[in-house]
Amino acid sequence: MERDNLNFGNFMNDEFYMDLALRAAWRYQALTLPNPAVGCVLLDRGGRVLDIGAHKKAGFLHAEANAVFAALCDLDANFAQDFACEYARKFGVKFQNLESLKSALLQPSFTYDFILNRHGGLLRGACAYVTLEPCAHRGKTPSCAELLAELGLSRVVIGTRDTNAQAAGGAEILRRGGIEVKFDVCHAAAAELVEPFYLARKGGFCFIKINATLNGSVHGRIGSEKQRAFVHELRSVCDYIGVGGQTVRADRPTLDVRAAKFDEISALVGRADMLTLDACVAPQNLKLRTPNVWIHSRRALSDFDASIPLFGVEERKVEVSQSLPAGAKITMIEAGASSFDEFAQFASHALIFYSAQMREAGNFRANAALQPLFISSAGDPHLEANEFYGWFKILK
Ligand SMILES: [Zn+2]
Repeated sequence: MERDNLNFGNFMNDEFYMDLALRAAWRYQALTLPNPAVGCVLLDRGGRVLDIGAHKKAGFLHAEANAVFAALCDLDANFAQDFACEYARKFGVKFQNLESLKSALLQPSFTYDFILNRHGGLLRGACAYVTLEPCAHRGKTPSCAELLAELGLSRVVIGTRDTNAQAAGGAEILRRGGIEVKFDVCHAAAAELVEPFYLARKGGFCFIKINATLNGSVHGRIGSEKQRAFVHELRSVCDYIGVGGQTVRADRPTLDVRAAKFDEISALVGRADMLTLDACVAPQNLKLRTPNVWIHSRRALSDFDASIPLFGVEERKVEVSQSLPAGAKITMIEAGASSFDEFAQFASHALIFYSAQMREAGNFRANAALQPLFISSAGDPHLEANEFYGWFKILK
């Protein structure tokens, strides 16, 4: 009884922790594609929060492993120190401090092996809240279900089942490992989180992106360099960037990925000397894709001025048509002042960036009903303090 009181067990229920995991995952929505966005909260056996983790990018650690790794770094200083030493020896990358180590995109198989060899039973009896059933599939990384079973967790709470045939079956592995499994906590919200992933797999995921001031002006330059880097990272996971013919003629955009933060890091990691980085990544996973461009227009390609920078980007296809290109699995439409309605027929979701300022000119015009799914909070790592963004479902 006393113990329950100490744990605040009465009001910090399963839904409370699952909500933390969901919010952590939404911060990387779409950036994880073609993988799903997933969040994980890890509690120790006494109910104390050890870490709140998320999957950040396909090819790197899953949410469960990110949370486990950060928790072990906090629980055991030797674990973190030895990892940093061995990582430096193997990959030539040093970390400035513990925080940069915990937030880095680490080489996954090396990190999983290190966790399995060095966890020391520190997470025995722990509890994990995971927005999506832990994967059972051994792909580029070992399965998360096996990892959690190996660490001796006592309970895993899951938001929604994994229906992807290749990855499903994680709950069975957990149960065989003696772990209590609870399903469908915050199920509806967990299903909304994973919907873009399923859309991308099935037919295509298409969303509209807008940058606006608080009063909806899209006139002039809006958004910080940080926001721009975020948008370029989103571009790098897309097959196509959609844009209106009018915008192409008026703005003469490039629509490339040059501001994505990974680029800069990639250039540094490519050098042989020892590096000190805020966040670092394994060089083999760094090649960023330049998205193709879909110009929504009735005109022909030859009607556009070929000197507009987007036509000069290498390894890119440009298509001009009135409907989504057939091969578009992941599409971000960069909408202008008057094109939201024109594009809404193609998109299921909208991502709206707000900068906390007002401007009189150039408000965007749209008639649409939206359902908010996630609104970023102050301190979001992708943005400056005067900015926020929301993910919305476009109601049809
Ligand atoms: Zn996994």
